[in-house]
Amino acid sequence: MPATMHWFRRGLRLHDQPALVKSTQIAKETGAKVYPVYVLDPDCYQLLRCSVNRANFLLEALRDLDSQLRVRYSSRLFVVAGKPQDVLPQLWKKWGIAAITTDADQTSEPYALSRDAAVRELAKKNSIQMLEVVTETLRDMASYGDHVPETYGGFTKLWGTMKTPISKEVDTPTLPPFEDKQLLADKTFDIPADACGIPWPTTVSRDQLTPIWNRADMEAAKKKTSRHPGGETEGLARLKQHVVERKQWVREFEKPKTSPNSLGFSTTALSMYIGLGCVSPRRLYWEVDKIYKTGAHAQPPVSLHGQLMWREFNICMARQANRKVPGSWGQMAGNYLCRPMPWKSPTDDAATAAQYAAWRDGKTGYPFVDAIMRQLRQEGFIHHLGRHMVACFLTRGDLWISWEAGARVFEEELLDADYAVNNFNWLWLSCSGFFYQYFRCYSPIAFGKKTDPNGDYIRKYVPELKSFDKKYIYEPWRAPIVDQKKWGCVIGNDYPKPIVAHDVASKANMSKVASAYAAFKDGGGGAKRAAEAADG
Ligand code: FAD
Repeated sequence: MPATMHWFRRGLRLHDQPALVKSTQIAKETGAKVYPVYVLDPDCYQLLRCSVNRANFLLEALRDLDSQLRVRYSSRLFVVAGKPQDVLPQLWKKWGIAAITTDADQTSEPYALSRDAAVRELAKKNSIQMLEVVTETLRDMASYGDHVPETYGGFTKLWGTMKTPISKEVDTPTLPPFEDKQLLADKTFDIPADACGIPWPTTVSRDQLTPIWNRADMEAAKKKTSRHPGGETEGLARLKQHVVERKQWVREFEKPKTSPNSLGFSTTALSMYIGLGCVSPRRLYWEVDKIYKTGAHAQPPVSLHGQLMWREFNICMARQANRKVPGSWGQMAGNYLCRPMPWKSPTDDAATAAQYAAWRDGKTGYPFVDAIMRQLRQEGFIHHLGRHMVACFLTRGDLWISWEAGARVFEEELLDADYAVNNFNWLWLSCSGFFYQYFRCYSPIAFGKKTDPNGDYIRKYVPELKSFDKKYIYEPWRAPIVDQKKWGCVIGNDYPKPIVAHDVASKANMSKVASAYAAFKDGGGGAKRAAEAADG
């Protein structure tokens, strides 16, 4: 009897899973089995550059999916390691697969595009029907058309005229319960309890996992405790707690009024669950929609619906840039939406390399910047406005280092790292694309004080400074040396002096941006068009 395979890619969940529902429908009609599969591909965007935190988050999400499949459907998740083009055909042959279902990857990320094209081709060659269903965006990207406006305002107008409705969530209770306990239990694919810290049977060996844990040894990784456990179960619990049960908060939510240095969560903190598909973006959209129907509410761009629209817009822009020049989205070269700027690169000279390392490691001497970068390294998640602060500081604000170098650090550390969204925001913050008000610069001293005058956030993530008086917590180098000694932290010894003078550097950098803008307005080309589009 021909079987079907559901290939879990981004949608690591059981709710809103139309592709899996389809797989089970085919199986029901033919009386065949469904094999749920995940391929741990060390070269994919999620894993190629990946912190221990994110690797853990992914493994937790897989473990959660596996246990849900076992409990709810007497099934399991088959995890295999390797390139999908290599390992999937072996499984198709072994299991006699006639159809494969999966979520359509709409990110335009170059590796995913080539991987999917290769798998499609192989499926065709093997006469296997391949069904890809859009589930990870609110609409199919194709429905926005080939020429999406390059401003959020223009995108909002387009949104208002769209005939294609936002997809309704698919009701997963329609997944038929798998009555046959043996349906998916193919013991031949189990291996003895492995040493990789994955306590469920998989075909993954320690050697195959090693490239994934590329930054720390396994023991350190196992000890790591995260504030953000991966998986659908946690994601849905968070959705309930942070959204469904906070109706008034949802209605009043305006992003700029949230706090970058709150010790709790001042936004939904769902992006990592949405990014990996543990929570469907459509589920979030419709939950918010239900709440909006109960009273007056905020509007885009600052509302919660507005945030999901930013996500759609970002994905459209990545798609549009890569359609013009494949692979150009994540870089300056060839990216028609990126204004060329004479950034420094960390590889230029030792001084720039040292400044870049100080920024990355949270040792710039600016406590607010350092707290944000240390939170990023420790927990893999930081507030949107915290991201603004450190991205501005690295680029046009203080260090004049390329946004590409900053984006790579975020790509590695963020639990929610997303090809389209991350690069979009780095373009924006560095004034390289979309946003152009370079004269509006974040102060590493004044910005954090507005929402946390006592500096509690700094005290948590930069514990060297925990005893400092609030008068000096944002500028500890100004504290008298007797006080520094009394508080157990001498600036320059126990905590760095500022690596750059913000007032001087930020002014000089504004002039550099102004000159760069003037040069490319004269020079014309794609960058000029992009500047005009952003201005409009
Ligand atoms: P909420 O404010 O509660 O919003 C709800 C959802 O809307 C989020 O979960 C997310 O899916 C989406 N969303 C919110 N803000 C944005 C935004 N500005 N752009 C696009 N989608 C948004 N977000 C990522 O998901 N992945 C990234 O790699 C990423 N990199 C970023 C890099 C920089 C330099 C900056 C400034 C922002 C980046 N963001 C990224 C956007 C944003 O910071 C996060 O999505 C947001 O902070 C997540 O928190 P939340 O889930 O509480 O968001």
